[in-house]
Amino acid sequence: AATIYYDNDADLSLLKNKTIAILGYGSQGHAQAQNLRDSGCNVIIGQRPGSPNYDLAVKHGFKPMSAEEATKAADIINILLPDEVQGDVYRASIKPNLKPGNILMASHGFNMHFGQVEPPAGVDAMLVAPKGPGHLVRSEFEKGGGVPGLIAIAPGSSADTIKYGLAYAKGIGATRGGVIQTTIAEETETDLFGEQVVLCGGVSELVKAGFETLVEAGYQPEMAYFECMHELKLIVDLFYQGGLNYMRYSVSNTAEYGDYTRGPRIVTEETKKEMKKILKEIQNGTFAREWILENKAGAPGFKATRRNERGHQIEEVGRRLRKLMTWINAKEV
Ligand code: NDP
Ligand code: MG
Ligand code: MG
Repeated sequence: AATIYYDNDADLSLLKNKTIAILGYGSQGHAQAQNLRDSGCNVIIGQRPGSPNYDLAVKHGFKPMSAEEATKAADIINILLPDEVQGDVYRASIKPNLKPGNILMASHGFNMHFGQVEPPAGVDAMLVAPKGPGHLVRSEFEKGGGVPGLIAIAPGSSADTIKYGLAYAKGIGATRGGVIQTTIAEETETDLFGEQVVLCGGVSELVKAGFETLVEAGYQPEMAYFECMHELKLIVDLFYQGGLNYMRYSVSNTAEYGDYTRGPRIVTEETKKEMKKILKEIQNGTFAREWILENKAGAPGFKATRRNERGHQIEEVGRRLRKLMTWINAKEV
């Protein structure tokens, strides 16, 4: 079974004489910085000016500075920038200002694992990754709880790095929920796989294909939307509370029979073979290389696909229907 750390395994006093730099005051940055400060830690913020995140940091009582200055002034440096910009910012602003004895941190292993963030000699590195979005990391902490997380120490780091990691995890509230020990490779590879195959890629394509099939067969798009997208949340809530079994207990026997007999015709041996191929591309760095190159070129394909996807009929129908359901707190970005 996995090793899981809780509050009693962590000693916050290790951070007492340390300065922690949070680079980036975005989703994770604003949450982790405030939680650490509330836990009594010395926190400074590296955030570029001219953005709402800069103003937010000021509003929260911080004095944001450049990534260079924050790195110079800190003992522990946590890079909470978007994954695709971390490599460039690291090489230009962070690495030249690191000193032996510093600890470099991140909340996702992509850049450490794929060689974009390589700590220099004498600098230890680790991940402390909350398993939830930043706003929850903050709001759960304020309620006295905490979003659970992961901890992973970079190979070659000194033996007490984990103690600092656990102290940090306690400071952001993660050890209240439990912190699972993992490796940077396992965190990175499982995270990419999950989002590509199931959570984002898999589910989005499944929903679109179902919607398109009904609409192409002449059914009303509004009906197709409710059936293939809106109801998905109700089903997922049942998974979340009691697994597949609880969903199957809740739906009709007809739905359950259709699930068992038709589901395997949608996700087939062929689908699973493709999943294994995608996993290989993650493990051997093909995906990472592709995504890094795409960004170096200014992400033209990524941006074009994003534009196209926004214009899909299910999005137009959905936008209209969600406006009529005032209680669902519809979002438009
Ligand atoms: P956000 O996009 O919310 O925030 C990014 C921050 O980086 C902002 O402060 C932004 O400032 C700054 N930034 C963006 N581009 C640049 C740049 N070119 N140079 C300097 N600063 C820049 O990021 P997240 O909090 O979502 O992600 C941070 C890390 O946390 C990632 O590694 C991610 O994988 C990980 N993570 C995120 C989770 C989440 O819930 N979002 C969950 C678990 C892990 P500005 O306003 O100036 O653009
Ligand atoms: Mg991810
Ligand atoms: Mg139904």
